[in-house]
Amino acid sequence: MRLATYAESHEPDAAAHVGVVLGERIVRVPGVADMLDFIAQGDASRAAAARLDASAGVALASVRLLAPIPAPRRNVMCVGLNYADHVAESKSVVGADAPKFPTFFSKPPSTVIGPGDTIPWHGHVTQSVDWEVELAVVIGRPGRDIAAVDALSHVFGYTIANDVTARDLQQRHGQWFKGKGLDGFCPLGPVIVTADEIGDPGALDLCLRVNGVEKQRSNTQHLIFDVPRLIADLSAGMTLLPGDLLLTGTPSGTGIGRTPPEFLRPGDVVEAEIPRIGVLRNAVAAS
Ligand code: MG
Repeated sequence: MRLATYAESHEPDAAAHVGVVLGERIVRVPGVADMLDFIAQGDASRAAAARLDASAGVALASVRLLAPIPAPRRNVMCVGLNYADHVAESKSVVGADAPKFPTFFSKPPSTVIGPGDTIPWHGHVTQSVDWEVELAVVIGRPGRDIAAVDALSHVFGYTIANDVTARDLQQRHGQWFKGKGLDGFCPLGPVIVTADEIGDPGALDLCLRVNGVEKQRSNTQHLIFDVPRLIADLSAGMTLLPGDLLLTGTPSGTGIGRTPPEFLRPGDVVEAEIPRIGVLRNAVAAS
């Protein structure tokens, strides 16, 4: 099942709905306030969505897709340095060897923007804005001390994230929160594909393009710490809640890893893609 948060009008204050994507159409799920409510309702909302017929919907191309979870209840949780080739290219910033345990950090909810939204240009703060395509996990069932073998049963679904990063701030401030926490630095979407439809999250191609030029290409089989291990480690002594988001790390091909380094400029268009989920396209603001 493919789920989206959308507005039928492009006005900024248009009401948001949850819909199920059926082919080229989207059908509003009745009785659901937002995606967090959909997740909380469990089987009831899933059953309601499964009964919907495409003929009741509107053309997907006519609506404005928002971030699947436009306002997370708490910080977006992330792991850094989770592909060996990205660890190697990141030494100038983090100076690290391959980690023995996941490197967790978070991004505030104010980083989240949707597909098609503009990434703000914070030129007075940073001149080294980088891209990072990532598989994002959406937690469905709450849990603490979740065993790796049970972890995937706690997953609601998956979406795409771009973990936009100000490399100069990441380096200057030691901890990564500041450099990864600027407004609009977590494009998310375009849809959530439910866990049953994805199956194994460790076999997904992912890639990223800037202005149509491919910069990153890998597969989640190359994760150092796979999704079950990440959930097990993160939930150890710390309760995960329905609607929590966990970004799983990025492969090589980021701007900082290039010779010479490349960074985003005003007007650039970034497309993060996981073919089984979709394409997350965002332009950088003109200024
Ligand atoms: Mg990242």
